[in-house]
Amino acid sequence: MLLAFDIGGTKVACARVEGGVIRERRQYPMAYEPAGFAEVIDQLTAGWAAPSRVAVCTTGYIDGGRVHSVNLDIIRFWDGFALAEMLQARFACPVDLINDGQAAGWGEYVARRARGLAPANLLFMTLSTGVGGGLVLDHRLRRGPHGLAAHVGHAGVRLMALDGVTACGCGRSGCLEMIASGTALARQAGALFGRPVSSAELFALAATELRAERIIVHAAQAVAEAIAGFHMIVDLQEVVIGGSVGLASGMLERIRAALHDMPLRAAPLLSAACQGGDAGLTGVIALDNERQE
Ligand code: ADP
Ligand code: ZN
Repeated sequence: MLLAFDIGGTKVACARVEGGVIRERRQYPMAYEPAGFAEVIDQLTAGWAAPSRVAVCTTGYIDGGRVHSVNLDIIRFWDGFALAEMLQARFACPVDLINDGQAAGWGEYVARRARGLAPANLLFMTLSTGVGGGLVLDHRLRRGPHGLAAHVGHAGVRLMALDGVTACGCGRSGCLEMIASGTALARQAGALFGRPVSSAELFALAATELRAERIIVHAAQAVAEAIAGFHMIVDLQEVVIGGSVGLASGMLERIRAALHDMPLRAAPLLSAACQGGDAGLTGVIALDNERQE
């Protein structure tokens, strides 16, 4: 039995997989310190048989079995956390780790390939707690020599967050993640409305509140600006948008409208993640199948 995890900045999804098929799926909020995280793992897998292997996709980049954070503000203990070691000790079996955006990008690619629609060059972008991504070039997933490939949230964009915040938790400024992540949407909404507003509430408010709509449109413009830059570097056929913010009502359409206003040559197809919030788990399972072959 394969135990698959998708560990995000907000939630942890977990699946019991047999024969490449999800038999059971569970989800739990992410914890922000190591002891709480160990409890989340126990809760998620309670009552399940011992796995023969564990495969994980997670926020952060994977270098030498450890997770490293680009944005240090999201989950502090995660930077340098020996996740492989912890899970090996807990489950007594081999553990494989990959970045979550990369896994989701591969999951989306494999789903298209199964329908005979695989583009050679596909970029997946997740707009979630942070902004991440996965890049498939010439039909191959690119992880990069340090596991950093496609950390698209830290691409610089020429727009500024509407609350004037420029410094990113990665140590640089002007990053896409500071404008278009769920965290950034809530931060900008909080500053503009003078009270706490979650990303989900902001999308609901946008139906009647021009200021809410402006924040979301601005984020969509920043995403489009980043897409245009990536496209000119690697020549994309398809850009897939995922994550709870990317899949929120009207977000894809707003990104499409922003792209439409640009003079972009041979514009890539823009689509929503066909695997929805399970793109990461799908990718992890596909990669595990490939290792078993
Ligand atoms: P993770 O980052 O853990 O992978 P998600 O993809 O669910 O998880 O992204 C979480 C972010 O999305 C949070 O910032 C959360 O506030 C925001 N979010 C969750 N649900 C919605 C929604 N329905 N509409 C807009 N934003 C949402
Ligand atoms: Zn950054």
